[in-house]
Amino acid sequence: MAAKKTKKGGLLVISGFSGVGKGTVIRHLMENHPDYAFSVSATTRPPRPGEVHGKDYFFIDAETFDKWVEEDKFLEYARFFEKAYGTLREHVEELRNAGKTVVLDIEVEGAVNVMKACPEAVSVYLIPPSARELKRRIEGRGTESREQILSRLKKAVAEADVVPQYHHLVVNDVVEEAAGEIDGLMHRKKKLGLSRREALKLTRQIQADLRNILQDEEACDRIN
Ligand code: 5GP
Repeated sequence: MAAKKTKKGGLLVISGFSGVGKGTVIRHLMENHPDYAFSVSATTRPPRPGEVHGKDYFFIDAETFDKWVEEDKFLEYARFFEKAYGTLREHVEELRNAGKTVVLDIEVEGAVNVMKACPEAVSVYLIPPSARELKRRIEGRGTESREQILSRLKKAVAEADVVPQYHHLVVNDVVEEAAGEIDGLMHRKKKLGLSRREALKLTRQIQADLRNILQDEEACDRIN
């Protein structure tokens, strides 16, 4: 008797404003649902305390990254904050062929490229409950300088314009609820949380509030 063929797993692209808590939501999703697997990206940025090579990222040097680009090893890649990040094509395929739904934690440029290359991909953008909460979460990590925090907030302002390109918008207020909402979307259940219209309105509000926060910070710098 022929062995039962494993059904190819799906592709779930998750992006969100830097600091929104994507990592926590994804971890929760995977801890509670064994059918998901995380796509470990390659990056040229140094590891943060506690990050593990091969689990959080494959930490590689710029030379190796460029070589892998030439060898077409990346499904997509992007360069920002003077560092490079890329999704490993073979790694994703292996997991999908094993029947896993592969979760890609990538930023907008890469996500748009994956959506073009893989029309079957489902994309989710995570938004915070408010701009203040986003700033608080980034500051709470305690790993970035003030300059880095402000540059992440500036990136969020620009990114907000791309949010409507995502299939689904999910608010990350309570982690368990955000993860449950995403799992529901993958199983085509009724959408929980905010409607798309409400979530887009919230995104525009956050964008405007972030602009104000950044203006205040710049005014502070001019005084000091
Ligand atoms: P961090 O340095 O905070 O881990 O990640 C910075 C940004 O890079 C996050 O928005 C994350 O989603 C994104 N990122 C991580 N891996 C990849 C990747 O393989 N490709 C792309 N395009 N973005 C990535």
